[in-house]
Amino acid sequence: MHRLVISGDVERVIVVVLDGLRPDAITQFGLSNVLRLARNGAATLQGTTVAPSVTAAAMASLLTGADPARHGLQSDRFHLPRATGPTHPLPRELARVGLPSSGFIGHVPWMMRPVAGRLARTLGFGHWRFRGSNAIEVLATAKSALREQARGLIVMHWRDADRAGHESGWMSPRYGEAAAVLDTALGLMMRLVDLSDPRSMVVALADHGGGGRALRRHDSDHPEDRTIPIVFAGGAVRSGTLAAGTHLLDVPATILAVLGIVPPASYAGRSLIGAPAAVQTRALEEVSDAAA
Ligand SMILES: [Zn+2]
Repeated sequence: MHRLVISGDVERVIVVVLDGLRPDAITQFGLSNVLRLARNGAATLQGTTVAPSVTAAAMASLLTGADPARHGLQSDRFHLPRATGPTHPLPRELARVGLPSSGFIGHVPWMMRPVAGRLARTLGFGHWRFRGSNAIEVLATAKSALREQARGLIVMHWRDADRAGHESGWMSPRYGEAAAVLDTALGLMMRLVDLSDPRSMVVALADHGGGGRALRRHDSDHPEDRTIPIVFAGGAVRSGTLAAGTHLLDVPATILAVLGIVPPASYAGRSLIGAPAAVQTRALEEVSDAAA
């Protein structure tokens, strides 16, 4: 029950991080494209993010499969972390089987650029851009990759809702407007990416919520800070509901499994499809062979 069911060979995964998007914002502000993606795909509005529920920690967990205590980024500041155990970044695991990864994040102040670039390189991204002041501009920067990179991983980070949450408070009218920008960008992306094609899978999720203990923050253990929407969609994804409590750390393990790679032991989450699709298909063939 509540498992992700994949039928078909997924060749690329597009991850969209909707920074600071609370699940209840989706209905409250009528985010029709997020809703459409969720209805077509497999989704939960009761996913859980890592602790601390801050962007740097969550992004590092998403891209390494490791808990913040292991990967070492435990504050909302991006820096080159000192890991407490071996990590196996998602883009590096993909590179081992010849799959490329590219990342698109909004504008980074020039002082932060060397660190951001080194982080991207350390994680194993072959291509990255830090450009754009909102989700639509980041999407525009990623457009050629979305059109041309048919295999591997494409990651986009859209920060509009988080920024508005810090400035005006989570669920404020200004936050609602920013969430609508994320929704518009998602709608534009759904025109660029053929979601009936089984070769592409889209994962849209938030890195954290906000407004739990404090209106303009999101770093507490409060459910409103820790609860996130997680959506898998694409031609290979059977639509349905994912279990409440599906964890952000399950996402990187699932991405590897969907692309046919067994997640390394350093991955704290579990694959939502169980064993990699190819392994499952082989097992099914063996069962049907044995039955014949
Ligand atoms: Zn934030």
